[in-house]
Amino acid sequence: MKKKMKRIGVLTSGGDAPGMNAAIRSIVRSAVHYKMEAFGIFRGYEGLINEEMKILDHRSVSNIINRGGTILKTGRSDKFKTAAGRRRAYEVIKRNNIDGLVLIGGDGTYRGGHIFNKEWGVPCIGVPGSIDNDIKGTDFTIGSDTAVNTALEAIDKIRDTATSMERIFIVEVMGRSSGYIAINAALSGGAEDVLIPERKYDMQELCQDIVEGNLRGKMSWIVIVAEGVAKAGDIAKMITDTTSLETRVVTLGHIQRGGSPTARDRTLATRLGAEAVSLLRKGLNAKAVGVIGNKINIVGLGTAVTKKAADVNSLCRLIKILT
Ligand code: ADP
Repeated sequence: MKKKMKRIGVLTSGGDAPGMNAAIRSIVRSAVHYKMEAFGIFRGYEGLINEEMKILDHRSVSNIINRGGTILKTGRSDKFKTAAGRRRAYEVIKRNNIDGLVLIGGDGTYRGGHIFNKEWGVPCIGVPGSIDNDIKGTDFTIGSDTAVNTALEAIDKIRDTATSMERIFIVEVMGRSSGYIAINAALSGGAEDVLIPERKYDMQELCQDIVEGNLRGKMSWIVIVAEGVAKAGDIAKMITDTTSLETRVVTLGHIQRGGSPTARDRTLATRLGAEAVSLLRKGLNAKAVGVIGNKINIVGLGTAVTKKAADVNSLCRLIKILT
């Protein structure tokens, strides 16, 4: 028989993403609305194992919808990857009468939740928080829109100076295995080239494009490189060695994780947080929430742990057509 949820736990885990706070707010206030208690668990799975938690009431999540980062802190936990660590996490959950968990994080967080649920049966619902937008079962992850906009703002500024000085800029953005930020920042920023992990690049072709652009009188050339492809400095060196043209390098780094979330990320976080609570109430288990075509979409946690295949070829072609 379905057990009535009286107390739920919420944690943020893995890489932080703007909008996680908006999700926490929505989860806590939805729980309060349905007369459930919400426990905030600090520092992801590590904090769960160490019993770092406190009750969050309606007021405790005031004025966080606009704040980047996560009030619950986040982190990685090697202990949770072991059976002994997960046993301790289960003991903490039992001792504190927590009936279900909402896990805000990326595919690693989902993987941990999936294994934990299988082993100990604790109901777990995943909410996608990741700047990389690489989680299956959702068109968008919380934080990815803000990260693209942060990168875009920087690219706009770089373009001003690149045009004035007639220079080639190589801009490195985040994305170890996902080109989402790179390709969307490139498209919206009017970059001339983009190098992403999902697609092989041809250095000769890139250099030839730059030289031809130079001959056509192009004032600037911006190449966006996802960090998973290569260091921007190495790409710049190869371009200079081949073309003898001067290059400049900018690595955007962690600014892409910070900042006030965009309206789109806040809305997504608010919708998905509330949905996660609603699923726990209904007795659903081991699910991940998302949106497909702006409609709420629910998939198994086991499905959501596999990374989604991005359709990048047509977007890369479009960048080349517009260069
Ligand atoms: P993200 O959720 O952003 O992808 P990570 O990949 O670092 O970030 O995963 C976050 C945490 O999830 C890890 O530190 C670990 O505690 C837990 N986790 C990831 N993979 C597993 C796994 N295979 N088994 C158990 N826990 C895992």
